[in-house]
This record gives sequence, C-alpha cells and structure tokens, in this order.
Amino acid sequence: MSGRAPDAAAGPSAVPAAPPALRRAIVDTSAFTANAAHVAAVVAPAAVMAVVKADGYGHGATEVARAALAGGATWLGVADVDEALALRSEGIDAPVLAWLHGDDPDFTTAVAHDVTLGISTRTQLERAADAGSPAHPARVHLKVDTGLGRNGIQRSDWAAVFEAAREAEASGRLVVEGLFSHLSNAADDHDLAQLAAFDEAGARAAAAGLRPTIRHLASTAGALRLPETRLDLVRLGIGLYGLSPYGGVGSAELGLTPAMRVEARLIAVKRVAAGVGVSYGYTYRAASDTTLGLVPLGYADGIPRHVSNTGSVWVNGAIHPIVGRVAMDQFVVDLGESVAAVGDRVVLFGDPAEGYPSADDWAEAASTINYEIVTRLGRRVKRVHG
Ligand SMILES: *Cc1c(COP(=O)(O)O)cnc(C)c1O
Repeated sequence: MSGRAPDAAAGPSAVPAAPPALRRAIVDTSAFTANAAHVAAVVAPAAVMAVVKADGYGHGATEVARAALAGGATWLGVADVDEALALRSEGIDAPVLAWLHGDDPDFTTAVAHDVTLGISTRTQLERAADAGSPAHPARVHLKVDTGLGRNGIQRSDWAAVFEAAREAEASGRLVVEGLFSHLSNAADDHDLAQLAAFDEAGARAAAAGLRPTIRHLASTAGALRLPETRLDLVRLGIGLYGLSPYGGVGSAELGLTPAMRVEARLIAVKRVAAGVGVSYGYTYRAASDTTLGLVPLGYADGIPRHVSNTGSVWVNGAIHPIVGRVAMDQFVVDLGESVAAVGDRVVLFGDPAEGYPSADDWAEAASTINYEIVTRLGRRVKRVHG
C-alpha cells in the first residue's frame, strides 16, 4: 500500500492531487487593494506610489503591483532597474520609478521601457541623458539628500547637478519630472527639518530653470503621521502590506490589514519526559513531561535564529512557544498538555485580528522590525495568492 489518499490509487493514469506544500505563505491580494485605497483616501489629494521592491517585500511584486493599482495607486516604486523591467515583462505599464543604481549604469533598456529613473549622482544624470533622445527622452526624478545621509545628491552638489540637468533638458534628451528625498523618521522635528531642506532644494531647482511637477518625500511613516510631508505623492511600502511602520502601534490602529499568513503543518509530535533537551546545544530542557511538535521551517526559510526560545506560533487555536534553537530547516514547539497530531496546522504569523501572532510579535522576538520578518522569507516558502 502506498499510503496515499484513496483517489490516488484509482489507476496508473490518475494524477494524484498535489500534496499540501510543506511550508507556505498565504497572501491575500485583496488586502493590498484595501490598504492602498485606505492610504489613498487618507493622503488625498496626494497620489500613492506602491513600493514593490524586493519582490513586494517578499509578497510577490507582480501580484502586489496589480492589486495596489486596483486600489488607486498610480505609481510603482522599486529599488533596481531590473525590478522595474520585471514588472514591464509582466505587462504592467503604470509609471514606475527605480532609484538605486550601480556606479556606471547603462540606462538604455530602462529608458526604452519607460522606467523613470531616480537620480542621485552626476554620473547617473549623464548616463540617463546618454540613454535618452529628443524622440524618447529619459524621464528622471532628482533625489536630494536632505539629511538621511544615504542615497541622494548632497547639498554641496545641488547647484552643479541642477545646472547639468537643465542643460540635458535643453538638449531634449532628458526631462526632470520629479524631485524627491527620503526621511530619517528619527523624530518629527528631524523630519520637519528635512522638509525645510527639501523646500530649499525645490527653490534652488526652480532657480536653475527646472520645473519638477512631482515632489515626494514621505514613505508610510511620514505619510500617516506628518501630513506636511505628503506633498504630491507618498511612497507607500510597509503600509501596503498591512504592517505598521511604528513600533508599538499595530496594523488595526492604522486601518491596515496584514496581507501575509505563514503556515505549515506539524510533521512530528512526541511525548517526552521532564528534563529532556531540545535541539542543538540543549538551550531548552522540558521543565516537566510535555509534548513537542516539529515545524518544517528554519533559518534557510528566513525564520530568524534569534526567535529560538523567544518566539511563538499558533497551533489548534492556542499560542505555543518555540523551544530550543531554530535549525536550518526546522524548529520545535512546546505544546505542553495540548492535544495535537501530525498534520495539524501551525500558523507562524498572520493577522492578529484573527488570533494569530503578528509579524510585529515576531519582530519583537527577533529584535528586528516587521519589514525584515516578511522580506527575508526564503524561496522554499511557497507563496499562495488568493
Ligand atoms: C523602501 C522605500 C520606501 C518605502 O518605505 P516604507 O517605510 O516601507 O513605506 C520609500 N522610499 C524609498 C526611497 C525606499 O527605499
């Protein structure tokens, strides 16, 4: 006997139903639409750019992009040109901005596919102009550093780069469509100081003869908390996925719905005696006789090793602790006196409104942020979009 479901034994030509994936992330695409629509209503008349970099924060960039556009987002944002081209190859033709480039980028393909370029250096500006022509000019948004100290044109270079941009515009090879910057979210007064610096950059750009019509500064945190920073467009990343950018503030308080639920099934259940050591190094020993459950996800799947002995999961309606070290492919849960069997569903995190641990809970257990919890999920975790 094969031990398969009865219909699998119907005959040699019968195709057995695919077994349930060992580990999966159930992604509710309607949540992206709802989250985009919610934030669009909050920030109106500012427009919304759906930030879908890093494969949509691990949720699937194409699916997120389509659902966010359906919810009223009018722009897409990614880090790399390659991410933008992947969206184009899926037939998505909405405006898309890519803002992180190598040291000597070739923008020919990007311009040919109408990818708008975020420009942070003089070299990038020149390469964009090289890739454009009067018949098909490169469209760029100049990125100014207003205090984050990361990407963006430094204040001391603003004049020279604005001047070079004006010359490139005059040649017809490039159009400066936008001006943008990124906030530190360190504290409201820091963000407002950055807003003042951004206004100054805008005035200097205008004095140089540039007319950027799309000014943008805020990501989710600024968009929801500091209305002054909404300007013409907000870049919505984490909020689109239904997660909060603020520690100590949950999704529901912001009117957002988490889109991802990560789940698996118990693949072993065993009764053990008090004192038994669990997983590498015996960092956990059962205090009394207990039941242990084995979950087939590990750090290769993006489960932080830091949740060893600090995180918890949902099994059969109750929350149970992760015990012992998280290994590459598996971790152990202490089920105590609960009744559990092989095959029972385990939810690592999902929407806390449904009783599951949240990505925020996981972030706290791993001393990180919810962004990292969803984005680092590995390729073995099958994404199921519904
Ligand atoms: C990732 C990113 C965003 C989105 O930020 P969230 O905090 O996820 O909303 C916005 N702008 C830039 C430049 C980014 O790199």
